[in-house]
Amino acid sequence: MKKLVIGNWKMNPSTLDEAKKIIKKTRRIAGRLQHTEVIACPPLVFVFAVISKRDPNTLKIGAQTVSYEEDGPHTGEVSAVMLSDIGVKYVIAGHSEERKNGDTDKIVSRRVKAIVDSGMRAVVCVGEEMRDEGGKYLEILKDQIRNSLAGIPQSRAKNIILAYEPVWAIGAKEAMRPDQIYEMSIFVKKIFSDIFSQDQAMKVVVLYGGSVNFRNAVDIIKTGKVDGLLVGRESVNLPGFIELLKAVDGVK
Ligand code: PEP
Repeated sequence: MKKLVIGNWKMNPSTLDEAKKIIKKTRRIAGRLQHTEVIACPPLVFVFAVISKRDPNTLKIGAQTVSYEEDGPHTGEVSAVMLSDIGVKYVIAGHSEERKNGDTDKIVSRRVKAIVDSGMRAVVCVGEEMRDEGGKYLEILKDQIRNSLAGIPQSRAKNIILAYEPVWAIGAKEAMRPDQIYEMSIFVKKIFSDIFSQDQAMKVVVLYGGSVNFRNAVDIIKTGKVDGLLVGRESVNLPGFIELLKAVDGVK
């Protein structure tokens, strides 16, 4: 299975010109990758402009969020059907920055449902805000995963990607230790198995996100044994991202 590297551009860059430059370079390097698939998630306003029919099959365009409503009077919103219609294949839901802005688990689950019902894959972000010695964070994480996936039927489980992102490691100086990432990837798979089935949990793609860069990416993939990475800052920092992709592609 190919490794997945998702670039969350967040609210960057400021102009369409710059966005086109970043995607052009990303497209060029993605075209040379053999064992890795890249998903670039620009700000919504740039998504349509950077989607190209000439994209290699190792590059897809994703979105950072979507409305949970189907259509109608929802000013400022963009629906899952609209994104799917223009060729978006992946949508992030439940990012900690969106949760900080008011997204509850219930809202996240509604977004996830809208995404998977439209045939796209939902990149569901989960992760504890902080750790405590008693291990309460594991219970909190378990509830967060269960509630964020509430109401998603078995038949849609294959459209879900779990992005484990400990909030304390996002935008930080250092990523989580790869051996801890390994433990957590097993933990989130176990919860997925309890919600859906063991069979689905064997197949689910688990990503790690939080201060990944070209220096630590390989160790996170190898020791953390995750299926890929969710990359924030480094995804718009070329050539750092190019180095990261080359390094990840080289992992056997
Ligand atoms: C993120 O926001 O999902 C993220 C992982 O950010 P960063 O890589 O900058 O820590």
